[in-house]
Parts: sequence; structure tokens; C-alpha cells
Amino acid sequence: MQCKNHAGVPAADRCTGCAEPFCGNCLVEIHGAKYCGSCKVLAVGGQPIAPEAMIECPEAGEALKYALIGLFCFGIILEPLAISKALKAKKMMAANPNLSGSGKATAGLVVGIVGLVLWVLFVILQIAGT
Ligand SMILES: [Zn+2]
Ligand SMILES: [Zn+2]
Repeated sequence: MQCKNHAGVPAADRCTGCAEPFCGNCLVEIHGAKYCGSCKVLAVGGQPIAPEAMIECPEAGEALKYALIGLFCFGIILEPLAISKALKAKKMMAANPNLSGSGKATAGLVVGIVGLVLWVLFVILQIAGT
């Protein structure tokens, strides 16, 4: 087993991040685990080494987008859509801890409900006015 960086130099240990063999000069110990130069950056940066990083739930972003657009136009259609998307996003996040974006889903839900109430009032006033 040779160091991946130095040909001919026997490896002292394997990197915790990439599992490649490295010599004592290449390995750095962080939190009791040994890392190579490129994996060290990830470990120090506090990034999880696990490949399944947090991903944002797309439904949460869409819910907020629809809710905001719905404030200005087509609210009667877009606000209920935003509310249902926000609820769906919250359900998906509850089932999958790797999904982020709960703040956006909550914002989409709140804006969606407020927007829908305003639009319903607007429509009632329109009907009452004619
Ligand atoms: Zn490594
Ligand atoms: Zn080396």
C-alpha cells in the first residue's frame, strides 16, 4: 500500500473521507479522524462527508413562488395551489429528514392563506358592487 500522492512512500493510514491510502505527511487528524488534503477542506468546513447532503424540497420553493405571484394576479387559482404545495412540502419534509426548506413552505402557506382571503374579499366586493 503506497501513498496516493507520493509514489514509493508507504502509506501510514487511509483517509476517512475518500478511503485512499496516504503517508503520514499527507494525512491530517481532525476530530480524531485522519483526512487527506482534499477531504480535510470538507471536514474543516463542517460539511457532512456523507453523499446524501441536505437538498431543498422543490415543492417548498414553488409554494412560496405561487403564493407571491398569486398576490398580484390569478390569486383565486394560484393561492389554493400554493397552499396545497406548501402542505405537500411539509409532508415530504416530515417523511424525509434530508429535505430542507421548511421556512419557505411555512411562508408559502401563510402568504397563500392571506392571499386567498384577500382575493375572496376582492371577488365578494366586485360582486356586491355590480
Ligand atoms: Zn481523502
Ligand atoms: Zn504522501
